[in-house]
Formats: sequence, structure tokens, C-alpha cells
Amino acid sequence: MLDFIISNPAVAYTLVIAAVVFSLFASISVKSTFNKYEKVQTRSGVQANVIARQILDSYGLYNVDVVLINKDKLTNYYDPRTNTVNLSASVFYGANVGSIGVAAHECGHAIQYAKNYLPIKLRNLFVPVINFSSGAWLYIFLAGMIFNMPVIVDVGIILFALIVLFQLITLPVEFNASSRAISVLKGGEILGADECKGAKRVLKAAAMTYVASLLVSLTQLLRIIASAKRRN
Ligand SMILES: [Zn+2]
Repeated sequence: MLDFIISNPAVAYTLVIAAVVFSLFASISVKSTFNKYEKVQTRSGVQANVIARQILDSYGLYNVDVVLINKDKLTNYYDPRTNTVNLSASVFYGANVGSIGVAAHECGHAIQYAKNYLPIKLRNLFVPVINFSSGAWLYIFLAGMIFNMPVIVDVGIILFALIVLFQLITLPVEFNASSRAISVLKGGEILGADECKGAKRVLKAAAMTYVASLLVSLTQLLRIIASAKRRN
């Protein structure tokens, strides 16, 4: 496969472009799915921040705070450093299927921490390395190419491969947080079966964006390996 790509540069570019198109599609899809289910009010009418509090308490996570942040509605996250579930205003105050799905997903990450779920621990070990790699790989790779130093080129490639590996570990973390969210929403009878279906759709669309980013990086990795090999 790699040999084929090395001898056909157009193939590498086509794969990258296909992955980028898929990634655009995934980001449009997550926005439109969320917008759709943000309009579906729940029968209970309870806001997502209250539900997040209930979920965390039901796992004994009284020390995890649910915090309102001034961010875009699709920017919501669990921060392990401050042990907080951070929700944008539309999610925080939302009493709708979309917001509750997203809030429960972030609680899912807090639960992963509490239960010492291995992939999230691994992923976090990687964070400092990834911060360095993302800033440095391209310069190192290009320096190696310009000064014709294959070892330096390889270092750049390895740094980029670490980013790809990081995105790969992110997948089980994200899928698992969503499945925890759905089972807790269902099991705790927080949402009805039909409402759960909507929340599941939102979380599925969000998960696709992680798959898409992985594919973009993976195809890019193939492309840079191919261009480095062609040079040698
Ligand atoms: Zn997540």
C-alpha cells in the first residue's frame, strides 16, 4: 500500500482530500443534529446542569463541579485538572434532548476518571507530548527536507505519528463516555426511550468528528511518509 502511494503522489493527495471532505461533512452534521435536538424539549423540563449534578451525585462524585462557561454551544468538556464539568450556556440551561445528551457525555468523562478507565489515563499521559509535537513536527520535518537530513525528517514523522496515536486513543474514550451517558440517562429514567434516541443521535454525530480528525491525520501521515521516501 505504502509503496503504491509513494509511486503515485496523486493517490496520497486524493486520500487527504477525501478525509478533509468527510471531516467537513462530520462537522456540519454535528451542528445540524445538535440544532435539531436542541429544539426537542424534554417532558421532565429539568435543565441539563441539574441533571449533570444528579448523574455525578449518583456516582458519589460530589467533588466534581458543574460549571457554566462562556463558550460556543458545542464547546463543552470535562477538565480533570480542576475536576469540573464545563458547559456552555445553551447546554447548561437547556431542558432539551440535545443539551442533556451532551451534559451526560461530559459527566461520562468524569465517571471514567473516577473509575480509572485506562484509555483516558493513557490519553492524559500523552497530552504534554502532544502539545510539543503539534507545535514542532512540521518545522522539524521541513528542516530535515530542506537540509536533506533523513534522520531529522524521521523525527518529524515520528512526532506526527504520535499525534495520530493520540487521536486513536481518543476514540475509545469518546465512544465510552457516550455509551455511559446513554445508559445512565436510560437507567436513571432521566429521559424517555424516544428522548434517549435523540440524545444518542447527537452523541453519535459528535463521535464522528473524532473519527474524521483521525482519518485526516492518518492520511496526512501517509502523505508525508510518501513524500519523504520519494526524496530518498
Ligand atoms: Zn467527550
